[in-house]
Amino acid sequence: MSYRVTLIPGDGIGPEVTDAARLVAQATGVPIEWEVVDAGEKAIQTQGTPLPGSVLDAVMANRVALKGPITTPIGGGFRSVNVALRQQLDLYASVRPARAIAGEGTRFPETDLVVVREATEGLYSGVEHWVDREHSAAETVDIITRKASDRIIRFAFELARRDHRHRVTAVHKANIMKTTGGLFQAAFRDMAPKYPDLIADERLIDNMCMQLAKKPGEYDVIVTTNLFGDILSDLCAGLAGGLGVAPGALYGEEIAVFEPVHGSAPKYAGQDVADPVAEILCLELLLRHIGEKEAADRVFRAVWETIAEKKVVTYDLALPGYTLRPVPPSSCSAMAKEIARKVPLVDPHAPLPRPKGQGHTDDPQLET
Ligand code: NAD
Repeated sequence: MSYRVTLIPGDGIGPEVTDAARLVAQATGVPIEWEVVDAGEKAIQTQGTPLPGSVLDAVMANRVALKGPITTPIGGGFRSVNVALRQQLDLYASVRPARAIAGEGTRFPETDLVVVREATEGLYSGVEHWVDREHSAAETVDIITRKASDRIIRFAFELARRDHRHRVTAVHKANIMKTTGGLFQAAFRDMAPKYPDLIADERLIDNMCMQLAKKPGEYDVIVTTNLFGDILSDLCAGLAGGLGVAPGALYGEEIAVFEPVHGSAPKYAGQDVADPVAEILCLELLLRHIGEKEAADRVFRAVWETIAEKKVVTYDLALPGYTLRPVPPSSCSAMAKEIARKVPLVDPHAPLPRPKGQGHTDDPQLET
């Protein structure tokens, strides 16, 4: 039996990094049949729309997809394909693990947290308008519902339990946004007692940013609304080693789409220089989702050892300015081949050394 998975290569560096992930998937030996469909710029050229109905149909039929980044024009043009995909498939949970790998590219090698972001409503609901004819004022509506808040908060607690994490932190701005923030806060406070085995606490978004910049190692699972989650995911990606190594996943009730945090990086498109690790770690999350735990562990271990060894790594992990241990940079395809070569050789059960960094404290006191 083989798994049928939708593959959306996407724009810019998308085709290169998704090719890299496919190569690594092949090395795991897990039988995957890829159904390749186009969305974004290529779909506009061939089908006149950035998100053809056939793409949604394919994802709904297969229920699992691996996606590359898709370009969104700024200020005008078509609405974000990424936002449309999330809303139309009701992919309500955006999950972004921020795991420092082999102590590289980070001042906080102990970072190992997950940002769980509500992905269907909030300030990304698409309800916005000019207030007057002169376009001198504008409004964007922040929609928060109890149903969506309960759903994402329950998801975060369940994820924490399943992955043996110990703490869930809700992030909001309920002191200023008393209705929307207050509603999310109330949903969290009502849900927390159902998970007495987990520590539940809260941070205001501004304090959370400061806390993360000082000691990300103290945080475990963060659950928040759409815009705050978008910003915190990038912050945490930066803390853990940069966009090049930050994977993401979108979950609905029955569908899961795996995509990197990074965008289409147009300036690097077609040059075979982009870091393939984020997309390869999306493959790791995908393998875990379909129950191929050992293959997923092998992929993560192969990525870790390739970065730790630092012989075949892309520019963002190699050049001075990006790393304290510079080496000559390798291409995207060379790094993918190196990771794929290691997949069958690594011991997926050996513990990974996670160094303690300056951001770590053993103080269990929770600050407010
Ligand atoms: P970006 O993530 O594409 O690039 C930000 C910086 O990180 C750039 O310097 C880029 O070169 C670098 N970078 C990104 N990915 C990299 C990789 N794998 N290896 C090495 N370097 C990498 O963000 P942007 O420039 O703000 O956005 C470009 C386009 O991507 C926009 O149209 C944006 O809307 C879109 N975008 C799409 C998604 C998605 O599809 N989920 C997410 C974010 C941005």
